[in-house]
Amino acid sequence: MKAILVREFGAPEVMKLEEVPTPKPGPGQVLVHIRAGGVNPYDTYMRAGIYAIKPPLPYTPGGDGAGVVEAVGDGVKKVKAGDRVYLAHPITGTYAEYTLALESQVHPLPAGVSFTQGAGVYVAYGTAYHALYHHAKARASETVLVHGASGGVGIAAVQIARTLGLTVMGTAGTDKGRELVKKEGAHYVFNHRTAGYQDAIREATGGRGVDIILEMLANVNLGADCKLMARRGRVIVIGSRGDVTITPRDLMARTASVQGFTLWGISEADEADVHAGIAAGLENGTMRPVVGKELPLAEAARAHKEVMEPGAFGKIVLVP
Ligand code: NAP
Repeated sequence: MKAILVREFGAPEVMKLEEVPTPKPGPGQVLVHIRAGGVNPYDTYMRAGIYAIKPPLPYTPGGDGAGVVEAVGDGVKKVKAGDRVYLAHPITGTYAEYTLALESQVHPLPAGVSFTQGAGVYVAYGTAYHALYHHAKARASETVLVHGASGGVGIAAVQIARTLGLTVMGTAGTDKGRELVKKEGAHYVFNHRTAGYQDAIREATGGRGVDIILEMLANVNLGADCKLMARRGRVIVIGSRGDVTITPRDLMARTASVQGFTLWGISEADEADVHAGIAAGLENGTMRPVVGKELPLAEAARAHKEVMEPGAFGKIVLVP
């Protein structure tokens, strides 16, 4: 089969399309014929060798993907050959024609959801769901600021928060991104590249501040977020690319908190909850992954450059 291999950590160009043996599913394993692989920012940190998880070399990137079950190993009961599935952090990477997964890492993909959309399910919706339900413990009467709403996690968060009944505010850096955020359910949209936009956000809350902030770029925004929160507000740090200074008294004055997580560390119970929520959301159409760009697998390097550039518009996926 064809797969992207990383033989050394480095620039996007270290990813090469190679011919490798197709894996065979052992007991409890599932082989999936990949129709689309999802690209996430962490794929780029991992490839560069600067992520907390450093896979042994060579490796195939990709924790998100969707396709059709090709074969199952002994004892697998959840799926059978021919089933449409999405993957969640499988054993081998999804930047490939076939991916090997544990039975627990494959999940049904409803007929109404395309494979390219399926490649944008787990990391984006899993993260947004975990942030809103398990960390923020969001309530319908609250306001949420999705700080960085035009990308994969942001669009998912806007859709979920809107479904829950919250008043949703989202930010994006381009007109196109802001239009998308509005279309996917935000009541208010702001430009995080305009000076003083936080004042406009505060004004939109009637001066009260925001109850929940889902933060995609904490190293830039956390200090201001702490001043933007309402009493008992919560900032959930989802993304950060460096250090930041905050004024702890901003938290004290508001009885507010800052929490963070990575999806890798999710408990088994929370993960089961996430997939149950995703199954319902995909089925009833309240979760609608937005695919902004499809690229051939051979253009993985381009995908890694573009996912790190400004102007996000949902997900970027690779098609083998
Ligand atoms: P993405 O699709 O590349 O989107 C990035 C988002 O950040 C876009 O909405 C972008 O908006 C926005 N952004 C850019 N500059 C910003 C600023 N100054 N203030 C606020 N937002 C800004 O990435 P993603 O998949 O949504 O992931 C978002 C972040 O969360 C990444 O850093 C990723 O590594 C991290 N993440 C963490 C977890 C976890 O487990 N904790 C899971 C998934 C993702 P424009 O492009 O419109 O400017």
